Amino acid sequence: MDLSKILTPGMKGVFYGRHSTHKQTMETQRRSAYDLAEKYQCTIVEEILDEGVSSRKKDREGYKRLIAAAYEKKFDFVIIYSHSRIARIPEEHDLIRATMHILDIPIIESETESLYDFGDTIFRAIKDGIAKYELDKIRINTKNAIETLAKNGRWTGGRAPFGYQYTSKKEGGTEKFDIVEAEIELVKKVFELYKNHHGFSSIARQLPENSYRGKAWTKDRVKNIITNPFYAGYIAIRRKHEKKHNALKDRSEWIMKKSPLIPAVLTIEEWEYCWNLYKTKNERKIPPKHFKTSFLLTGLLKCQNCNGGLIGKDQRTTSNQGKVYGKKVYLCKSCNYKIDADDAHQTVLKVFRSYQGVDTEKLISAVQEKVETEISNIKKSIEDLKVSWQTEKRKLQLCDIEIEKAFKRKEEKEPHIKILIITKDRILNKVHQIERWIEEKEAKIKFLEEVQKNENLIRDHLKQFQAPVSSCNEDMRALFLYLFEEIMVNKKGHLQCKLRFNLDDK
Ligand SMILES: [Zn+2]
Repeated sequence: MDLSKILTPGMKGVFYGRHSTHKQTMETQRRSAYDLAEKYQCTIVEEILDEGVSSRKKDREGYKRLIAAAYEKKFDFVIIYSHSRIARIPEEHDLIRATMHILDIPIIESETESLYDFGDTIFRAIKDGIAKYELDKIRINTKNAIETLAKNGRWTGGRAPFGYQYTSKKEGGTEKFDIVEAEIELVKKVFELYKNHHGFSSIARQLPENSYRGKAWTKDRVKNIITNPFYAGYIAIRRKHEKKHNALKDRSEWIMKKSPLIPAVLTIEEWEYCWNLYKTKNERKIPPKHFKTSFLLTGLLKCQNCNGGLIGKDQRTTSNQGKVYGKKVYLCKSCNYKIDADDAHQTVLKVFRSYQGVDTEKLISAVQEKVETEISNIKKSIEDLKVSWQTEKRKLQLCDIEIEKAFKRKEEKEPHIKILIITKDRILNKVHQIERWIEEKEAKIKFLEEVQKNENLIRDHLKQFQAPVSSCNEDMRALFLYLFEEIMVNKKGHLQCKLRFNLDDK
């Protein structure tokens, strides 16, 4: 890009650099910045450098100094190496960009020799003078800038995830990710175990000692693998909270892009399946030992008397002579009604056996039918939401017109305009809320289509379906939870099994 309209000879600039861990990288950044300044006969009058992420306090000092210096008009432009260098902490980044925009100070990116542009929206947002509205817009714009970064699978830095080795352009030729054979085998094992309902810690214990790049496996390391879509060929940024230890942000905040550079080890559907397992477990819908329990029917039994759930309880005691008294029961916590656990298991196994005659193919189509119904229900609710979205949008337009009119009448100081602005803010919030709901529902549909309806994954769920029924084990339990919606226990102790799928006319 020709910058001669922006950088005229004699202009004074400041070089803003962010240290990464390598000194060398800093030198590259600096060199590139000075070269560009020289090219347009400008001078760099000051350097403001921020230390790496390790030192947060110093981190803040640099950017604060930059903003202060900008207000004092100490320079005419800011030169950075690459916007990835200032994008590490979004809030600071926003402030830098907003400040430079207000003060009309261009930010030049030396790596690409271009103006780091933030477009019209921010400008308008700032002029609007409505704080929240402003912030929303800036946020959207920052998101876009980072999205550009992740586009085409550009690696934003750091070591490649376990299982891969990263070669950058600088180090030689083409940018790429190579598989590290020994590591990737372990990655596959991690996913396999997870799909079979093993927990993070359990998986960590089952892997060879110190095989995580020479270090011990921990549950966090396992979690990092399971929750990273990298293994399905996607680069994802903004996944983690900066301040909370190894905590993940809401999926809606992630930016995920398919990267042609990554040789994937599983399909995105398989990964979504694992992600969903993780999410349900994490949201405590499924307690950690859910699949492990020797009570095959935990979470399925419902008391007809009071609608409460029945929980498994081992009421056996052993006498000094080794004689066993009492039994394992399922107990309703609210009304204390209980049934014999072994009897209940036998009954349900019998029901299960009666369905085993159903052809797997028919079963699969029954599952898919069910998912299909669920999808069409969600689609209907999206339609409803879209109608209310339209309504709110119309209100917003009217509100804008009113604000415009009020301004034209020069009513800036009138309370009228304040009310209008507050109203606008409220409507805007509602619009955003509806948009988020729609997004969530669309994501749910995507998940149902790609994961729940996916034939191979259904087959995976049903792999034990025709196996001879033995006793209570994890596989059996996972299968039961998949097949049964609930099992109602009436006052006489009779069980009524409700299947999730319609198998009766099969
Ligand atoms: Zn009850």
